[in-house]
Amino acid sequence: MTDAPNPTPEAPPVAERSLAAVLRELGPFLRPYVGRILLAMACLVAAKLANLGVPMVLKALVDGLDVEPSLLVLPVGLLLAYGAARLSVTLFTELRTIVFARVMARSSRTVMLRVFRHLHALSLRFHLNRRTGGVARDVERGGTAISDLLDWTIYTILPTLLEIVLVTAVLVWAYDWGFAAITLGTIAVYVAWTFRVTEWRTRYYRAAVEADTRASARGVDSLLNYETVKYFNNEEHEARRYDEHLQEMENATVKSLKSLAVLNLGQSGIIAIGITALMWRAATGVAAGEMTIGDLVLVNAYLLQLSAPLNFLGMVYREVKQAITNIERLFGLLDEAQEVRDRPDARALVTHQPQVEFDNVRFGYDGRREILHGVSFAIPPGGALAVVGHSGSGKSTLSRLLYRFYEIQSGAIRIDGEDLRELRQDSVRAAIGIVPQDTVLFNDTIRYNIRYGRPDASDAEVEAAARSAHIHDFILSLPDGYETEVGERGLKLSGGEKQRVAIARALLKNPAILIFDEATSALDSASEQAIQDELDRIAVGRTTLVIAHRLSTVMDADEILVLDQGRVVERGSHPALLAANGHYARMWRLQQQEAPSQERGQVHFPPG
Ligand code: ATP
Repeated sequence: MTDAPNPTPEAPPVAERSLAAVLRELGPFLRPYVGRILLAMACLVAAKLANLGVPMVLKALVDGLDVEPSLLVLPVGLLLAYGAARLSVTLFTELRTIVFARVMARSSRTVMLRVFRHLHALSLRFHLNRRTGGVARDVERGGTAISDLLDWTIYTILPTLLEIVLVTAVLVWAYDWGFAAITLGTIAVYVAWTFRVTEWRTRYYRAAVEADTRASARGVDSLLNYETVKYFNNEEHEARRYDEHLQEMENATVKSLKSLAVLNLGQSGIIAIGITALMWRAATGVAAGEMTIGDLVLVNAYLLQLSAPLNFLGMVYREVKQAITNIERLFGLLDEAQEVRDRPDARALVTHQPQVEFDNVRFGYDGRREILHGVSFAIPPGGALAVVGHSGSGKSTLSRLLYRFYEIQSGAIRIDGEDLRELRQDSVRAAIGIVPQDTVLFNDTIRYNIRYGRPDASDAEVEAAARSAHIHDFILSLPDGYETEVGERGLKLSGGEKQRVAIARALLKNPAILIFDEATSALDSASEQAIQDELDRIAVGRTTLVIAHRLSTVMDADEILVLDQGRVVERGSHPALLAANGHYARMWRLQQQEAPSQERGQVHFPPG
C-alpha cells in the first residue's frame, strides 16, 4: 500500500486536516452549546477531583489502621468519606454524560444534514461523476466520527490530561520532585511513542477507509444493475471486481492491525518501566523510614489510576486520528464547490405565462467537447415549441440548461427577458414541470410518487392528476391501489406506467412552463394518442417545450425546431418544413415509411 492511493471517482483523496483544523470547522456547529459544554467540563473537573481524593482518603485510612490493635478506634468518618469520594466519581461522570449527550447527538445531526443539503446543492455533474454508494458511505462514517471525536476528546483526552496534571501536582506537593520527574518522564516518552507510531499507522487506516469507500461504491453500483448482471451472466465478473477492493481493504487492515500490535507493545513496555521505577523509589523510601506504608499505597493507587487512562490514551489517539480521517472525507464533500450558485442579488422569478428564450447558447458538458453550438429560439408566452432531431443532437440538454443544472459557456437563457443567472434557482425550478425521458421513481408508494409533484396536494388532487394521466383506473386495479410500492427506482411498474406517473406528477405541480422530453415514448400507439390529447389539453396556456422523436406527436406545434449535432438547421411549422423539403421532410418520410412497415411486421404471419 502506498501513501498516495489512486484517485478514482469512487474515493478521491481529500485534503488532510489536523485535529485543530477539524475542531475549528466543527466550532460553528458546537457554538450553540457552549453552556452545556462548560457544564460538562465542570462535572468533569469535579469527577477528577473526587477521583484524586480517593487515594488520599485511602492513605489516611491505612495510616490510621497502622497502629497497635489495642489503640485502634474505627475511623468511621474516613470510611464514609472513602465511600462518598468513590460515589462522587461516578455521579459526576454520569452527570457529564447526561449534560453532554444532546450536544454530541445534535452536532452529528446538524453536520450530516448540512452535508445532505450540500449534496443536493451540488451540480448534476458532481453526482454523475461520483458513485452514490461511496458518497453514502463517506457521509455515514463521517457522521459517526463526529460524535466519536467529541466523545474521545471531551470524555477521555481532556480528563486524562487533567488527571496527569493533578496527580503530578499532588506528588510534588506531598513528596518530592523525584516522583513527579519519573511520572512526567514516563508520560513524555509514552506520548512521544504513541504519536510517532500512530502517525505512521494512520496511512494504513486511511488506505483502508478509501478501499472501503471504493468497495461500497462498487457493491452498490453492481446491485443497482442487478438485471444487467443477470442478462450477461456476469456474477463472477462482478464478484471479482468487488473482491479487488475487498482485497485492498484486507491488506490495509492487516497492516493496520500489525502496526497496532507494535504500538501496544511499546506502550505497555514504557508504562511497566515507569511503574517499576516509581515503586522502587517508594519502597526505598519506606525502607529508609522516610515514607509510611500509607504513602506507598497512595503512590501505587495513583499509578494504577493513571496507567489505565494512559493505556487508553494510545487507543484514543488512534480513534481520534481515525475519526479525523472520516470527518476529512465528510468535510471533503462540503468542500466541493457548488458549480451553479445563486448570485447574492438573485431575484425570485414571478411569472404566469413566461416567455422562454435561448440566445446563441453555447454549451458543452466537458470543455473539450461542445454540444450546443450557438442555439437560439424563443417560445412565446403560453406557446409551444417542439424540438426534433437525431439521437444525441442535444435535445435533452436544452431542458437541463433551462433547469440550470449546468452553467452555459456563452450566450444567454432568459425567462420573461430575465437572464437565468440573475434568478434564484429554486424559483425557476418551481416554475417548470417536466415529464422526463426516463422516469425514475422513489422506492415508495404510487401515491407518494405522484404527490411528489406538490407535497401539500390532497388525496383528491392526486387522484385527479392520475385520472388526467390515464393511470387512475390502472392504479385502482392493483391489489393495494394507491398504496402499491413501486420498488427500487420504480422498477415494479412498466415503462409506460412509470411515464404516466411522471405525467400525473407534473400535472399536479401545475407549472407555468412544461417540458415534455419524449413524454410518451414508452407508450403504445393507442395509449399514446389518448395521453397526447391530454398533454395537448394541459399545455394550453402554458409555455411548453416538447422534445420528440416521433414527428407525428409534434405536428401541431406552433414552431418546430430541427436540431442536428447541436445546431438549429431548420425551423418552422410542420407544413412549412415539409414544403422546404430538407432535414425535417426526410425524417418525416422515413418515419412514414417505418410506421406502416412496422405494423405489417406485427400482423404478418406466414400462411399455413
Ligand atoms: P436522445 O434523443 O437520444 O435523448 P438528445 O438529443 O436528447 O438525445 P442529449 O441527451 O441532449 O441528446 O445529449 C447530447 C450529447 O451530450 C450526447 O452526445 C451525449 O453523449 C452528451 N452528454 C449528455 N449528457 C452528458 C454528460 N452528463 N456528460 C457528458 N456528455 C453528455
